[in-house]
Amino acid sequence: MTVGVIGGGQLGRMLALAGYPLGLDFLFLDPSREAPAGRVAPVVHGAFTDPQLLKWLSRECQVLTFDWENISVEALRKHACGARRARICPPVSALATAQDRVAEKRLFERLGIPTTRWHAVGSRPALERALREVGLPGVLKTRRMGYDGKGQMRIRTHEDALRAWQSLGSVPLIYEEWVPFECEVSIIGARSTRGQTVFYPLNGNVHADGILRVTRAPYGPARWHRTAVDYLTRCLEHFRYAGVLTIEFFVRNGRLIANEMAPRVHNSGHWTIEGCATSQFENHLRSILGLPLGSTRPTGHSAMINLIGEMPAREALLAFEGLHLHEYGKEPRPGRKLGHCTLVEESTTRRDRLARRLLARVAPGVRLP
Ligand code: AMP
Repeated sequence: MTVGVIGGGQLGRMLALAGYPLGLDFLFLDPSREAPAGRVAPVVHGAFTDPQLLKWLSRECQVLTFDWENISVEALRKHACGARRARICPPVSALATAQDRVAEKRLFERLGIPTTRWHAVGSRPALERALREVGLPGVLKTRRMGYDGKGQMRIRTHEDALRAWQSLGSVPLIYEEWVPFECEVSIIGARSTRGQTVFYPLNGNVHADGILRVTRAPYGPARWHRTAVDYLTRCLEHFRYAGVLTIEFFVRNGRLIANEMAPRVHNSGHWTIEGCATSQFENHLRSILGLPLGSTRPTGHSAMINLIGEMPAREALLAFEGLHLHEYGKEPRPGRKLGHCTLVEESTTRRDRLARRLLARVAPGVRLP
């Protein structure tokens, strides 16, 4: 059984590592010769839109999935779908919705999931309307291709908005209210092609400059988890989804406000590799192949810390008792996710104490609330 993966980044690499014990084979498509998945699986190199490569991949594999959500929906529909082609999971409709922040907001509203107030911005007059209707402060984001805080600018004043329009305004934008949240959480769940669903404990996430730095799990009261599972279930059922789906929320006055969704395994779920009975990567594979889903029972209190920009010395990290290190094999670059480490402890007190010590070494500017 061969799984085709479009995108050979660290998520793809961790999918392959989770799939080998199940007896699966992998074929990746990625334009980069340095794609992290290339260290552990065969990669065909070419554009994500290459008609010949997409056709070939969908003939060679039983199922196609993706580890990167900014791939072309048009190219997938045209070249990878059809008779004698592999199934594509998660569904392309979910991918199309997640690629456009406006479509995503409309979906949340349609499904009764609270989200930030927003206004689409395609022109200067639309920007003025957005500022009037949504108010200040806010954040102006590109509708497409935004990730890890890229393509977004915080707006405190009318002048900020005009400056942001100058620098972002050549592409369709969305203006959102700024939410003074108490914390950020995410929920990850999987739905199999047979309709079985499982949900992981809630993740508590700390971002800096729009990039995820730390995840702690299980996080928050049971009430938040129940609400998040309810919202995620609505999305899974809406798409008749297969695979892992993530929704990120702001928590404000005890209410969950959906920020965005990701139709794939998610950075806030990396702790599940060591911190849960079955990882998000394994459950993604099980769900797209119609296999029984694995238990999401946590094995302790986990903290996952991203290693961003430069890699700390391996020896220093491994000297932390109980630390699990994942290096992705990427060239260091400012703001780039190069690896992560996970701690799984018996108590939240011990986990937080160790996580703070680790953070002081690898990301001194990041504070754990
Ligand atoms: P995003 O790319 O939408 O996930 O944004 C990245 C991060 O920027 C979020 O996780 C938040 O920390 C912050 N952020 C984005 N949008 C808002 C908002 N409307 N209000 C407050 N913080 C935001």
